[in-house]
Amino acid sequence: MREKIEKVIKELKKAKKVTVLTGAGISKESGVPTFRGKEGLWQNYKPEELATPYAFSRDPKKVWEWYDWRRQMLYDKLPNKAHIALVKIEKFVPNFTLITQNVDGLHHKAGSKNVLELHGCIWRMKCWNQCGVPPWEDRTVPLPELPPKCPSCGGIARPDTVWFGEQIPEDVLEASLNALNCDFMFVIGTSGVVQPAASFAYHAKTRGAFLVEVNVEPTPLTSMMDVSLMGKATEIMESIVSGL
Ligand code: NAD
Ligand code: ZN
Repeated sequence: MREKIEKVIKELKKAKKVTVLTGAGISKESGVPTFRGKEGLWQNYKPEELATPYAFSRDPKKVWEWYDWRRQMLYDKLPNKAHIALVKIEKFVPNFTLITQNVDGLHHKAGSKNVLELHGCIWRMKCWNQCGVPPWEDRTVPLPELPPKCPSCGGIARPDTVWFGEQIPEDVLEASLNALNCDFMFVIGTSGVVQPAASFAYHAKTRGAFLVEVNVEPTPLTSMMDVSLMGKATEIMESIVSGL
């Protein structure tokens, strides 16, 4: 393990353009459950049955109850050592982009600057009727009224997150694809099964990037990696930044 970490540090010190892709696993040690974990009250529901435009159009109150519960669960969660390590790496390298599939806002809370939220943010809402009002931030927990209302047209508001069957916003996707033209890429705490994020590592690899995976278990992406570091994101990322 030590040798692998030394190799990663050496490559990172050489790198001019670093891109990071994170998934639910990086927030696990902040106490945020991944979708694969048990979700208490909601464990009998699959996210695929709640996080869809169809589910929302049928029963917006139920979908909002799930989001309200997740927002309450996330409210006091703090960034962990892996989130903080990425802030240090951003300061260390000339060109840095952090692409996250997480909606929890913990990278921003940690202080990361150049963050692309592929799947949106649970602390933002937008108008379900698309009346034209831009998405707005709302951190109230619990929400006083479900579903919450659009402040502009008075219609129903929805979470500003990307649901199953929806497209990633074009500007975010384009910026992410540009960032894959890099010379070093970290893939941290993602199962590598949700597209298009799962193909990002492949794109970076074809452009010559050095690929490093950090995960507690092997994933479908592991065989593509230059270095695969198996273990908790906090411990591994901390030992990497302590060598910079
Ligand atoms: P996932 O749940 O599919 O996979 C999580 C991955 O993290 C797994 O490969 C697991 O082995 C790994 N992991 C678990 N604990 C770890 C640790 N301590 N250190 C390193 N790795 C660890 O998550 P995904 O790939 O992000 O895809 C699921 C989708 O669910 C995403 O689209 C995301 O938006 C959404 N989601 C987000 C959050 C959040 O915002 N925190 C939480 C749950 C789900
Ligand atoms: Zn509206």
